[in-house]
Amino acid sequence: MTRVFNFSAGPAVLPESVLQQAADEMLDWHGSGQSVTEMSHRGKEFTEIAARAEADLRTLLAVPEGYHVLFLQGGASLQFEMIPLNLLRGQPSVDYVHTGEWAKKAIAAARKLGRAEVNVAASAEDRSFTYVPDRADWQLSEDAAYVHYTANETIGGVEFSSVPDVGEVPLVSDMSSTLLSRPLDVSRFGLIYAGAQKNIGPAGLTIVIVRDDLVGLADPPLTPMLDYATHVKAGSMYNTPPTYAIYLAGLVFAQLLADGGLAAAEQRNIAKAELLYDAIDDEPFYANPVAPADRSRMNVPFTLADPGLDADFLATAAERGLTQLKGHRSVGGMRASIYNAMPIDGVRALVDHLRDFAAERG
Ligand SMILES: *Cc1c(COP(=O)(O)O)cnc(C)c1O
Repeated sequence: MTRVFNFSAGPAVLPESVLQQAADEMLDWHGSGQSVTEMSHRGKEFTEIAARAEADLRTLLAVPEGYHVLFLQGGASLQFEMIPLNLLRGQPSVDYVHTGEWAKKAIAAARKLGRAEVNVAASAEDRSFTYVPDRADWQLSEDAAYVHYTANETIGGVEFSSVPDVGEVPLVSDMSSTLLSRPLDVSRFGLIYAGAQKNIGPAGLTIVIVRDDLVGLADPPLTPMLDYATHVKAGSMYNTPPTYAIYLAGLVFAQLLADGGLAAAEQRNIAKAELLYDAIDDEPFYANPVAPADRSRMNVPFTLADPGLDADFLATAAERGLTQLKGHRSVGGMRASIYNAMPIDGVRALVDHLRDFAAERG
């Protein structure tokens, strides 16, 4: 068996140890005589699996008292809609920071709902979304129900290096492609959400961490599936949850804890990102357009000096077992996603390819 180094933005690479454990447990989970994917979500075994996953996630992120951890479905995209539906609390406006493709979708969803004025407090559009607007330049509304930002723009490769200070207004963040890549002070947030298929686990699971005082205030009232209060009350089991995805994410959480938690994960991610950005910056044949301080540790877009060589670059990369490097269709060029589960050897192999290709064809 040969496994490739998969640089996909998502669904993405998972730790080999986790896949191996899942394979070992596929037919018979812990002597239960059944696969996790065959279990009732209300049975003793799965209840135990879900509780352990939640407990481990709380430990990893040091989630404080007063926050609910929800395992939902519908992706980050459904959160674009659930957030304005649930969090307006009678306020007339909401603030969004526009940093690229995903922020744009979040803003568009809030606008389409039409229940509050959607204020773009800051935008990086003037420089093609290649930086994070300085907090000092944000124009926040007086009466916003929340401030929303996209912690890591998966397509543009732009990441907030710290949590912005917005005072007392609940801070809401799309952390789909960065959650668990570094330690996080959850107490700074009203709500955090992330689709699992980037840095956490398989597609089908969405993680929401929400402060208790923001739940249950939707006005007008919502249908049950759209209301966080429903999922809080039911412990994420109002309807059938994505059981196998929760199980696999739980194995990832346990592995991260065993490997030293998020501080250790951050060190590994810094080392990988430095290796790759250094190679891109060293070789004039490659370029990354993002302001150095705002470069993503997770998603690294880069272009070749001659786009006519893109296909050749990808083909020769694939020959070395380096896959999914084609850039997003809206940006072109290349993109290497180097999530938690990408081993440093994968980044080394990519750097070797960058150097060899530039030497031969550049
Ligand atoms: C992938 C992604 C989304 C969309 O996630 P879905 O799970 O496909 O809805 C939203 N925001 C960010 C930052 C993403 O990377």
